[in-house]
Amino acid sequence: MKLTILGMNGPFPAPGGATSGYLLESDSGETKLLIECGSGVLARATRYVKIEELTAIVLSHLHFDHMSDMGVLQYLLQFTPMRRNLPVIAPREPETVRRLIECDRLDFIEPQDRTIGEMRLSFLPAVHPVPGVCLRVECDGRSFFYTGDTNQAPGLELMANGANLILADAGLTNAQWNLAAPHLSAGLCGELARDAGAEALILTHLRPGNDPETLLSQAQAAFPGAQLAKAGSRYVI
Ligand SMILES: [Zn+2]
Ligand SMILES: [Zn+2]
Repeated sequence: MKLTILGMNGPFPAPGGATSGYLLESDSGETKLLIECGSGVLARATRYVKIEELTAIVLSHLHFDHMSDMGVLQYLLQFTPMRRNLPVIAPREPETVRRLIECDRLDFIEPQDRTIGEMRLSFLPAVHPVPGVCLRVECDGRSFFYTGDTNQAPGLELMANGANLILADAGLTNAQWNLAAPHLSAGLCGELARDAGAEALILTHLRPGNDPETLLSQAQAAFPGAQLAKAGSRYVI
């Protein structure tokens, strides 16, 4: 698989930045998943993929830093000839927010384990202020795990186990983290990757104002190969 980082800030963009958005493609290029569609993501996604080529969109949860560009995507779809509706895998709640992004060109689907194109998707409930999921993708004999936004969640280690590449919510420094927080800490991301036996760890959901080098060193304490997500970076999984 190939992973492209489109946006990696949260819960708001850095100057010139974008919030959560990732493009995951199978080796053949036939299956293309847009994971998250936060602010500034659509402009970057369309550098790499035509909207009509997307197999599906996955939204881990309905916070605006993960889905605000779904609003303008509705308008793009009005000018895009497509013979099918675009599947959107997303939690149903909060319903008031989902209604804002529903349109007749999108088919909303519950996040349950399923096959999409060449990819096998599985989900785990996240621990976050609104319903959310963590996502694991198996494809081409390799595996990718994305935490979405979550604190420590039952089954998180098991779900991440053996993943080749982990993309993890480093929304907090170790000092900012506590059990009631909405995100993991950078240190916990490192421990997750170490315990999973991952080959690669990418830290994302980087909050403007948090020192990236602090986050990186805290993750590297447990997982020396940890990297910071950078917009435009592409990784082969
Ligand atoms: Zn977020
Ligand atoms: Zn969130």
